[in-house]
Amino acid sequence: MSLTPPSRQHRPVRVNHHDPAQRPMIVIWESTRACQLSCRHCRAEAAPGRNPFELTTDEATKLMEEVLSFGQPAPIFIISGGDCFERDDLFEIASRGVQMGLHVAVSPSGTKKLNLDSLKKLQDVGVNVISLSLDGATKESHDGFRRVPGTFENTMAGWEAARELGMKVQLNSVVARHNVMELPDIAKLVLDHGVMTWSGFLLVPTGRGVDLGALTALECEDVLNLFYDMGETVPVKTTEGHHFRRVSIQRHVLEQAGADHVEAMKLGPLYQELRKKTEALGLIEGGRRRRPPINISSGNGFVFINHVGQVTPSGFLDVPAGNVRDSSIVDIYRNSELFNGIRRADLLEGKCGMCEYKTVCGGSRSRAYNSTGNIYAEEPLCAYQPGTFPLADRVTELFQAPGQ
Ligand code: SF4
Repeated sequence: MSLTPPSRQHRPVRVNHHDPAQRPMIVIWESTRACQLSCRHCRAEAAPGRNPFELTTDEATKLMEEVLSFGQPAPIFIISGGDCFERDDLFEIASRGVQMGLHVAVSPSGTKKLNLDSLKKLQDVGVNVISLSLDGATKESHDGFRRVPGTFENTMAGWEAARELGMKVQLNSVVARHNVMELPDIAKLVLDHGVMTWSGFLLVPTGRGVDLGALTALECEDVLNLFYDMGETVPVKTTEGHHFRRVSIQRHVLEQAGADHVEAMKLGPLYQELRKKTEALGLIEGGRRRRPPINISSGNGFVFINHVGQVTPSGFLDVPAGNVRDSSIVDIYRNSELFNGIRRADLLEGKCGMCEYKTVCGGSRSRAYNSTGNIYAEEPLCAYQPGTFPLADRVTELFQAPGQ
């Protein structure tokens, strides 16, 4: 039996209220691969110079018009990179997108170009949301990871400038062996400086991130449970960590039953250590309303267009279903075999195929593909053995409650 996702806001998982097979919630456009950084995990293996075959200003405009034709409410259109500030036409493109009615957000790199002036220019054309990357709580760890001195200071300055302007900030942090013990410290920065969301990115072995020391599945279970613990203090979410939804459901049910989550979830020493540090920093039970994870995944509520127009289910899943230079993004998203397949939980294999949570989780298709070459393979970073949660009946009751 697999579960039908709950639909109410206060439930442990939020669902997209629109059919994700018809309209994505998030469209990410990799505007360029040019970037002055050389980050150790870079999916795009970004380079200093721009590729002459990148989508032009007019091609980007046509893409945004097509994105708008998905229907209302329009998807969020995120301009990423590389570093989107490497494009001279960034402000023009953002302005055109906002004018036509899109919610445009940008995702710049932590360079000197990220400053009060450039953010003010973005705000002047109607962009009010940015996402920034912070992979360590200190300049030593963040700059060591990013391999360029000064990125920590640039990122912190950009964060501060965005706050000064009243912009919303999503902060993204890679979660890997080099920084796992710093997660509570990064969370403290998040609490002190304020964000709209903080997203822990469970590393996908692609680009330069292939050999970066991803955590084991058991360690991920510890981290996802820590994220759940922090959820009443900071607005934490995950990227490519879809099993956080399963953890969120299980923790919710355990709480309702007054059961001990450490024993029920078989949490390990990493959890104990991180939890201790998190408590010491005052990051538990902070009184904020928990932000449940949302039920969207690669190709199912989410679509990526790369710098030369290829359309893939995610930036970490480099399997194109078409190119916006030849076809409409709407047609590719709704009708291609790849996108229709990736939305089908019944095609999942291994543990994910047998799992009672496959319709609310399904695992990272990007990580499955990059680890095995098979898009439908089981999620390598999930420790859960399907059918073993001790309060399975309560989970079923939760999902079948009146009004769901
Ligand atoms: S086994 Fe797969 S579907 Fe089940 S919780 Fe883990 S990642 Fe999700």
